[in-house]
Amino acid sequence: MEIKKIGVIGAGAMGNGIAQMAAQIGYEVVLRDIKDEYVARGMKNIDRFLSKSVEKGKIEAAQKDAILGRIKGTTEMSDLKDVDFVIEAVIENLDLKKSVFKELDELCAPHVILASNTSSMSLTEIAAATNRPEKVCGMHFFNPVPIMKLVEIIRGYATDDETIDITTELAKKMGKITVEVKKDSPGFVVNRIMIPHMLEAIKIVEEGIASVEDVDIAVKGGLNYPMGPFELMDLTGIDICYFVSEYFYKELNKEAKWVSPNLLKTMIRANKLGRKTGGGWYDYGK
Ligand code: NAD
Repeated sequence: MEIKKIGVIGAGAMGNGIAQMAAQIGYEVVLRDIKDEYVARGMKNIDRFLSKSVEKGKIEAAQKDAILGRIKGTTEMSDLKDVDFVIEAVIENLDLKKSVFKELDELCAPHVILASNTSSMSLTEIAAATNRPEKVCGMHFFNPVPIMKLVEIIRGYATDDETIDITTELAKKMGKITVEVKKDSPGFVVNRIMIPHMLEAIKIVEEGIASVEDVDIAVKGGLNYPMGPFELMDLTGIDICYFVSEYFYKELNKEAKWVSPNLLKTMIRANKLGRKTGGGWYDYGK
């Protein structure tokens, strides 16, 4: 079955990047969010990214128009009825993801693969909300999608080999490198490694050992990481760090190391979620 049209659910930070990548390699894309303003914001972000690519001479203006022309923004789920492949990128909430997958299962043709961009959650559980668990897998992109090279391809309990192969091939067509996560386990590979770094960094600041700025300087200079943990949290969303650590706590034997530090909860309560809210650990002056 040839893929011609791709559905992307959620036009937030990840969804708009995924839609852009799919359109860039020639697919027709339907990008769905729940409100017109969210769809418009997603389309604006894609436009902004592509305009910069034109300025830098990476693509022609006509190419930018062609890419944008292939993306149809919508708030109607029914517009996804004739897509050949779906990538879900709604917020990191298991109940919401399950209800979206149930709806997609009822709407899309039986052969359509339903992939989730979840950062941490069980593909087995998401798949169980459908009647096609063998056609459900994880397709975990990283932020910013057009720049970051890795995609983790995650196998749920029932995912079949064909689903893994087709999804891997699609990620490779987008110019990505892939790894297969053979067992459905919270946070897969990268986030299982990254979240403890973030939580430890927050605890260091909370205990007054060093400042946010100095932790970032130390990690970049001492570990040769391109970004410090606080800069990275501001980019990826401080709420994502919180949702994932709460999920790890629940799923990974309630180990104390996954308990969210108070300072992390305070940031969420203050709606200081990072770049997307104009401020987080750093101020972005919006
Ligand atoms: P975001 O908050 O920027 O965007 C989520 C979007 O989903 C919002 O625009 C919201 O309106 C929309 N949405 C909610 N319910 C919907 C529905 N029923 N149908 C369609 N749209 C709906 O979040 P994000 O950072 O783009 O994260 C999306 C997913 O990607 C999450 O599962 C997250 O864990 C994962 N992820 C995030 C990052 C990151 O760095 N931000 C990296 C990898 C994976």
